Amino acid sequence: MVPIRPITITGEPVLHQRAQEVESITDDIRTLIADMYETMEAAPGVGLAATQVGVGLRIFVFDWHDGETLHRGEAINPTLELGPVSEDWPDEDTELEGCLSIPGERYPLKRAETAVLRAMNLEGEAYEISATGWLARIFQHEFDHLNGTLYADRLLKPYAREIKRVIKGEGWGEPGHTWMPGKDFLEP
Ligand code: ZN
Repeated sequence: MVPIRPITITGEPVLHQRAQEVESITDDIRTLIADMYETMEAAPGVGLAATQVGVGLRIFVFDWHDGETLHRGEAINPTLELGPVSEDWPDEDTELEGCLSIPGERYPLKRAETAVLRAMNLEGEAYEISATGWLARIFQHEFDHLNGTLYADRLLKPYAREIKRVIKGEGWGEPGHTWMPGKDFLEP
């Protein structure tokens, strides 16, 4: 049984800073990634960045089934090449995004329809995934985390105002808040 780690909530400094490159894949990194998978599953979530378990390293994990294929893996020191982002207003039903570090909330956000992820896996092998649609969105959301950007930072004005109010109302937006998957029931 791998331990589940507490998930950091917006306001925790590690979530708002650029994460550092992984220099070598040590036992600590292997343990971290195993815990990240476990934590993502327990949350549950389709992606989780190391900064969300309080570690400022450039790693994220993802686990999403599109109905045909399971997309699951770890991205170490990733880069992301984006297609264009539409300037249309985001759809309130099909383009809702959420984040485990702002638990319980969802707001519409436009993302690039396509993204090419280049990263390293736990074996130290480089790989590339050309993603579209929701998988591309997951990659953009998680990659943003490694640069200290939350989806709340990208929302259009009315949604940005709303989420700010929610964060303030919950007493978040300052250091020291976490929640524990499997113990705290923040999701509706
Ligand atoms: Zn997130």
